[in-house]
Amino acid sequence: MAGLRSFPTVEGIFVAGNWEPLHASDRIESISPIDGTVIGHIAAAKEIDVDRAVRMIEPTLAPWAALGAARRAQLLKDFAAAILARADDLIEAEIVDAGLTRRTAVNDIQASIASIDLFVSYAPTLTGSTFSSPAGTMAYTVREPYGIVARIVPFNHPLMFAVQSAAPVLLAGNAVIIKPAEQTSLSALILADISKDVFPPGVFNVITGFGHEAGAAIAAHPAIRRIGFTGSVPTGGRLLELGAKHIKNVTLELGGKNPLVVTEDVAPDAVAAAAVSGMNFTHAGQSCQSTTRLLLPTAIYDDVIDRIVDRVGRLVIGDPREDATDIGPLAYQAHYDRVRNYIAVGHDEGARLVAGGRRPAGFDQGYYLQPTVFADVAPDMRIANEEIFGPVLAIMPYSDTDEAITIANQTEYGLICRVLAGTLGQAMEIGGRIKAGTLYVNSTGRRIRGMPFGGTKASGLGKQSCLEEVLSYTEEKSVVVGL
Ligand code: NAD
Repeated sequence: MAGLRSFPTVEGIFVAGNWEPLHASDRIESISPIDGTVIGHIAAAKEIDVDRAVRMIEPTLAPWAALGAARRAQLLKDFAAAILARADDLIEAEIVDAGLTRRTAVNDIQASIASIDLFVSYAPTLTGSTFSSPAGTMAYTVREPYGIVARIVPFNHPLMFAVQSAAPVLLAGNAVIIKPAEQTSLSALILADISKDVFPPGVFNVITGFGHEAGAAIAAHPAIRRIGFTGSVPTGGRLLELGAKHIKNVTLELGGKNPLVVTEDVAPDAVAAAAVSGMNFTHAGQSCQSTTRLLLPTAIYDDVIDRIVDRVGRLVIGDPREDATDIGPLAYQAHYDRVRNYIAVGHDEGARLVAGGRRPAGFDQGYYLQPTVFADVAPDMRIANEEIFGPVLAIMPYSDTDEAITIANQTEYGLICRVLAGTLGQAMEIGGRIKAGTLYVNSTGRRIRGMPFGGTKASGLGKQSCLEEVLSYTEEKSVVVGL
């Protein structure tokens, strides 16, 4: 394949419609996971830059809020059209910067547009209520935007999370600051460029930088009172601490260690297919919805494992730019090392490696890893409890349904759960006893757009991709008028 595309160095952050230089120039290298080469540089904003950005955005808030939801919805539609017009650029950035396969990158463009369509459809529902009140008075509520809202997003679907995070915030009449992950910021910078021709200055802003610097400064800034965060549990907890001083409203979409529970009367091949697709190996397992724990009854245990091993062996690992590739590299070196360390932990804990576990032959550079499957994983092992966020499946045997439910519920997480059982009643009964924000019952399908998505337990606070999310970016004010 041809050499990797390079991206222009961006010395500034995108604030109030312009690329603003940093107070003290500082850069972060953008490194391609395909071969580890530097493909660009992004600006590393600090607290002083965040504070300056806030002061530049503040004067632009009132006119945007005054536009009304219908006009803002129209501009969001224009944004969707402009994103589609630059789709090739964005797809290239996602592939080269974040290691998404071409199929995943194309899918993420479509998902981004679909999310804008969804939020735009909520424009007429941004309403208040009226209340019965004594004669001579009128009582009603109005929904007001917060002002500046920050959306801090993770590395795994950079464009999709930036777009789907910005849309509800903007529709509700706020200005948005997108803080992309420092490892995969390039598509957000292209998005900033696209936004220039669509929104008034100050409405759409992108601040790049390290999480502990730019991210923490955003999370602590007194004028950014509403934060929407997607990322890991430890960072989510840190954001609650940082926001506590100013009593910030914080939504958290966090990690998962999702169980797939199957009963013995499901066909082994259907279980194997569900286990492999549920793992999102095609995104190197870097999906919060991956079902990383397969709870298998002993009656079909060996048969299903053989079929899973056969299926993962047929996945094509390769350069994510090639159409035939099923699995590309993991997103960045430190994450690759972390996932490989978990594989070593699995060995040390005594789990049985039945597939993968190594850098694939012929891939000397880049962050490639074979799809990896451990069997005989015991409930007390670290690989049974901690989110690995890589292509590592833990298969756990169980002997009766109560035991399966106990194991399914034992982690601190509660994002999603899948149950496959011979009868719908049995699947509903098992699923009903497992704590999860989303439950898939006898379904290998994906999220239904518009249904609330979010975690329970340590997997999060609040819901997204639904009307509730848009409303959560407004504050309802009660008004009593003397007539
Ligand atoms: P992360 O928590 O390391 O980083 C996420 C974002 O937070 C990045 O932009 C980072 O720069 C920023 N950040 C880091 N430290 C910060 C700090 N102290 N203050 C403010 N911001 C800070 O997460 P990640 O590794 O990028 O993403 C993977 C995690 O995200 C996994 O746990 C995964 O399950 C989760 N995730 C959840 C969902 C969901 O919808 N529930 C979706 C995707 C990913």
